[in-house]
Amino acid sequence: MAQGKQIQHHGEAIVLRTWPFHEADLLLSLFTRDEGKVKGVARHAMRSRRRFGGALEPATHVRAHYTERPKQELVRLDSFEILWSPLSAPIDYLRTAGLQLVVEVLEEVMPDGAVDDHVFRLALTVLHGMSGSAHGNPEVATAAFERPLGVMPPDDGLGTIEARRASCAPRDMEPRGREARGVAVWLGVTYFCLWMNRLMGWMPELGHCAVCGLDLRGEPVWWSPAGDGVTCVDDRRPGSLALSAESVGESYRIARTSLPELRAEEWPRERSADLRAFALGTLERHMGRRLRSAVPLAR
Ligand SMILES: [Zn+2]
Repeated sequence: MAQGKQIQHHGEAIVLRTWPFHEADLLLSLFTRDEGKVKGVARHAMRSRRRFGGALEPATHVRAHYTERPKQELVRLDSFEILWSPLSAPIDYLRTAGLQLVVEVLEEVMPDGAVDDHVFRLALTVLHGMSGSAHGNPEVATAAFERPLGVMPPDDGLGTIEARRASCAPRDMEPRGREARGVAVWLGVTYFCLWMNRLMGWMPELGHCAVCGLDLRGEPVWWSPAGDGVTCVDDRRPGSLALSAESVGESYRIARTSLPELRAEEWPRERSADLRAFALGTLERHMGRRLRSAVPLAR
């Protein structure tokens, strides 16, 4: 923070959380594209809808105008323009839980002021993708999440058959409506949690047992909410859960395939449920607590 000088910012942000603050003010946590996570006060936000309108809903993608003030921890939020709102698609229980999961993870995991464009684009892509709007929105197209370099999984050949299967999958079968959104949420949560683990450096190596080094490629692996790495069946820790060989392959495929491409496939709740549990459990292990928003997703 510069001494004695106000600094104005104008940039993209995702609304993470709001708290009532003083009488008619709101305290907001924002994940901004250019400044990382920022906390600020929206004065009179409860009374004046003009400056913020519906832009204070968590998961809203906004252009935020805010001012850093000397010797003030909190920025002053001046006004927001909505770039995309979660309220633009019908709200249902499942989708709400999915959207909340994304903002809860960002709020918990991202340190204040840590800029991460990969995480920002991942979050936008998943928020849109869970809302049935992955295509046709130019804002989304420019924000599309591409695989960052340097975080590829080890090339062990497991993904090859899966990748081939994906390349044959029909691309023009975008499901629509309520059912489609449900499907999009199961995929979106799995995709988001796996990618967050990769981007944060928390994704364990899945090809070998962390205890005995046994080659586990093509085999099921065991993971534990209480320990790092995955193991063979013999070395599994108490309370370990299995991750099927198919789901391990799916995790590699998800790392190599865009969300819109994956959405062209069927993703019912049962598909890769063990992979979703693994991805959520790995996030929670590193966060050191359970995700409240994962409860309604009842793994
Ligand atoms: Zn082992």
